[in-house]
Amino acid sequence: MIYTGGTIGMKHDPKDQTLKPFDFSQILGEVPELGKYALRVDSYTFDPLIDSSDVEPSLWQSLATLIKDRYEDYDGFVILHGTDTMAYSASALSFMLENLAKPVIFTGSQLPIGVPRTDGKENLISAVEIAAAKDPEGHPLVPEVCIFFDSLLLRGNRSTKVSSEEFRAFRSPGFPALAEAGISIKYNRQAILKPESWSAPLRVSTSLDTRVSILKIHPGITPQVMRHLLCGDETRAVLLETYGSGNAPSGQWFLDIVNEAAAMGKVLMNVTQCLSGSVNMGLYATGKALERAGVVSGLDSTTEGALAKLFYLMGKSDDNDLVKARLAENLKGEISK
Ligand code: ASP
Repeated sequence: MIYTGGTIGMKHDPKDQTLKPFDFSQILGEVPELGKYALRVDSYTFDPLIDSSDVEPSLWQSLATLIKDRYEDYDGFVILHGTDTMAYSASALSFMLENLAKPVIFTGSQLPIGVPRTDGKENLISAVEIAAAKDPEGHPLVPEVCIFFDSLLLRGNRSTKVSSEEFRAFRSPGFPALAEAGISIKYNRQAILKPESWSAPLRVSTSLDTRVSILKIHPGITPQVMRHLLCGDETRAVLLETYGSGNAPSGQWFLDIVNEAAAMGKVLMNVTQCLSGSVNMGLYATGKALERAGVVSGLDSTTEGALAKLFYLMGKSDDNDLVKARLAENLKGEISK
């Protein structure tokens, strides 16, 4: 169990009336139920513990390296993480952990584990059970990076935080849940990815190129803002969050800037602002123009998944054409293809 921070392990500090992280032994003390499983749970605590709004790619690099170093020692890994950026972290690790054949389950909670109505206990206990679950052949049931939250096990790179208040804080609108915890935990075996090989060694790809801008298209967007984000020297790739099935304004100034960025060799990727559904740039003239400019379809990627995929692929190669080609591939179940 790897503890990075987040509400699950926070306590109310009467001094400034905010929530602050407390140490891990206290978390385990709140969950004596874990002792009822015939499992050994070891823990690793990050220092400092952070609110996940402070997550940076360096945390993903540390997590991936830690999992690699301890990979042979454990059947699975549970990562306690704040909810705010959990979907980003789970997406990133899903790409960075290559040949993963063991469960890596992120969880956290909306209420700290010490408060009476906490959702943290159930989330934590079920995440541990899932991380340890095996099929009759002795293989892990869920050899994927996932988020477990409020009874749902979701693929990490398909998940998104949908509520800041409800216990059901995460959904994966484009892909079915991998398991649901009721009286028993029901696994959706067909939906769970299997590794190409159970015995291939885990590789971690920790090199990430973060020169990505995200542009949410909106009525009233100005050419100045557009050009700054798309054509700036520091931008290697742009994630365009477009309308509906991948549409954007059809005004000439808009397309000129997209074409200018494309001519500069920038990687442009199209994801939809909608919570579910896929980009299909062939459907409307406004999407077709983006396709002609060489914008890559993100299909039904989440923004978090697409961003992590860009960081990962750009970290692996300086060749933008190669990056574009690989963006279109389904690498870790992040798109329906
Ligand atoms: N701000 C907190 C965090 O992401 C929220 C949470 O954990 O639910 O660390």
